[in-house]
Amino acid sequence: MTNGAPRLVRDDPAALEALSQVRVLYTDLDGTLVAPGGSVLADAGGAPSLIVAEQIVALSRAGLEAVPISGRGRVQLREFTQLLGWNAYIAEAGGILVHGTGLDAEIRVDHGEWPDGTLPAGETPFAAINRVRAAETLMQAFPGRIEHYAPWQMDREVSLLLRGCLDTAKGQAVLDALPLPVDLVDNGMLRSYGTLTCRDMPPHAYHVVPHGVSKSRAIALDLAWRGLTRANAAAIGDSATDLEMADTVAVMALVGNAFASAGVLDGLERTPRDNVWRTEGERTGGWAEFARAWLEARR
Ligand SMILES: [Mg+2]
Repeated sequence: MTNGAPRLVRDDPAALEALSQVRVLYTDLDGTLVAPGGSVLADAGGAPSLIVAEQIVALSRAGLEAVPISGRGRVQLREFTQLLGWNAYIAEAGGILVHGTGLDAEIRVDHGEWPDGTLPAGETPFAAINRVRAAETLMQAFPGRIEHYAPWQMDREVSLLLRGCLDTAKGQAVLDALPLPVDLVDNGMLRSYGTLTCRDMPPHAYHVVPHGVSKSRAIALDLAWRGLTRANAAAIGDSATDLEMADTVAVMALVGNAFASAGVLDGLERTPRDNVWRTEGERTGGWAEFARAWLEARR
């Protein structure tokens, strides 16, 4: 690692001290908690493994809560959360907070900084973003470099989901001309280009969200909902948008593979933060390494 790279969470007394107070872990899924292909029952290379499953069980036994926070939609995340024995999740890159996985689940939708009355009655933020043609505007400005991320763009309520190879600042500048304030969020690298023709950078997942909606803001809302404070929270992830979760938690961990992302490296350089650490392991291996450090710190 180069100078200025975050310290290893498991080796740093300051990280372990902070983790001793943490009660909730906000965890990204893709690139973080799951192996390539999406399984929790595999190691970082995709070979069958219990490395994450064992730590999920150990955290649950210790009474420690993990909350998936992901770009995935609400229906997808409900199934995933229930399957792992957890009880809350944050979907659509911070746009939807849910407590409970049953019929009595409580759901809160965040409109970010859109003023009340921005949406006509019955219109979802997702529909509003489509109404101002955000995707078409980006496709026109960056031909071959941005597309719908099929089939995961279906059944969405808050955010538009795209796949592309964009400079996020340039993409944001194009979106700033729309009649509705929206943010372009980089949610990490993907493995497949789909029908994109760009090859000068790896493909990324992007969300277009109401201005202000973010994983970081969702964590602040969720902590307030729980009556907890920042000192009680940690987060783990692999993307530029995950890194910003550092602003609302005590401990932010980046898994080893996060450092392959230009957006993450830029973010680390642009905004120095003293509560960001890393794991040596990648993906599931990094997640398990973090969980072990947390459990150790709580003893
Ligand atoms: Mg990710």
